[in-house]
Amino acid sequence: MSCRNIVVLGATGSIGQSACRVARELSGRVRMVGMSGFRNIDRLAAEANSLRPDALAVPDAAAEVELRAKLDYKPVAVFTGPGGLEQLATWEGADMVLVAIVGTGGLRPTFAALEAGKDIALASKEVLVVAGELVMSAARHRGCRILPVDSEHNAIFQCLEGRDPVQVRRLILTASGGPFRSWPEDKMRAVTRQEALRHPTWRMGEKITIDSATMFNKGLEMIEARWLFDVDIARIDVVIHPQSIVHSMVEFVDGSVLAQMSHSDMRFPIQYALTWPDRIAGSLPPLEWARLARLDFEEPRYDVFPALALARQAAERGGAAPAVLNAANEVAVAEFLAGRIAFPRIWQIVTAVLEKCGHRPGGDLEALLASDLEARGLALAEARS
Ligand code: NAD
Ligand code: MG
Repeated sequence: MSCRNIVVLGATGSIGQSACRVARELSGRVRMVGMSGFRNIDRLAAEANSLRPDALAVPDAAAEVELRAKLDYKPVAVFTGPGGLEQLATWEGADMVLVAIVGTGGLRPTFAALEAGKDIALASKEVLVVAGELVMSAARHRGCRILPVDSEHNAIFQCLEGRDPVQVRRLILTASGGPFRSWPEDKMRAVTRQEALRHPTWRMGEKITIDSATMFNKGLEMIEARWLFDVDIARIDVVIHPQSIVHSMVEFVDGSVLAQMSHSDMRFPIQYALTWPDRIAGSLPPLEWARLARLDFEEPRYDVFPALALARQAAERGGAAPAVLNAANEVAVAEFLAGRIAFPRIWQIVTAVLEKCGHRPGGDLEALLASDLEARGLALAEARS
């Protein structure tokens, strides 16, 4: 395999940092040619000084000044402003764009990258939840690949490789269950920010960690899988697997099930997405079977975690409903992290907003973003009521 040139959108985040480690470990195979950061300019400068990308993007001119002062080399370009991420995503030296921006900020740059014929390694599940149909059709139209980075979808991608979707009976997403997997329902009201941020098996950004605690993460992933693999939502199931070793499974029509396993370290799916179709020997630790002891599987508690049913309902409804669910959830999570609402209010707010505006038709990107904006306003009003 020749060297693949990658732009990372969100290089300073949890996924971005793991991707930079992968690039260091696989230098010669993976080269970071572009990176964006948002608030943490120190970290962006440190990664840039280490991997020396040609192009960088930061939010504004002040951040550019700060960044340039911290760089020990001269990049070819530093993009700023609202269109900066799109300029970076279409950088001519890039073969692939890793989208690792939390929330819907990755949406426009993803479309720009596809328009420019780049393959996408997609971590930002929100992009497919909001505009899955449009993104997949833009990719098909341009002949671009969307390689899943989310560990569950990367697992399914590995199990499916080369298979016709008609041979698939079910996709089975595994979920750790989060920190409250076995908590009694009446304790949910008193859940603190700190408790919700203590994920049992994965170290991730704050938003996705809260999503894992409410199970909205798995709900969003069901919708993500629906679009990535073109499988009806009715054939996508969830099973709780607290050890996070089996990353997901595919059940075929003959009843056989394929699963993908590895340690819970995002470098596995990131590396596979960045080097696909090759498998490359690196420094990732193999599983030690005798030390695993056991792998458990159990049914989700649908009554205690309404997020799963809400996501399924939004997917069945279609149109703008998944975008509305996602936007309301983003607002509610931010309110919870700011200490302004109790934990169960997250799904209560999403339920209320879906009720109010979850029947909008989908339409083009602008229409979806209008529904997203409306849902954010309603969610904020609901949170403050
Ligand atoms: P994070 O909060 O650690 O990092 C987010 C990144 O996005 C940072 O680089 C930040 O600078 C950038 N960013 C935030 N707001 C921005 C904005 N408005 N404009 C431009 N850049 C902005 O998040 P994360 O945990 O790395 O997650 C990133 C995405 O990957 C999320 O969509 C998440 O669901 C998905 N994902 C993460 C993991 C994980 O293990 N962390 C696993 C699977 C999927
Ligand atoms: Mg996941």
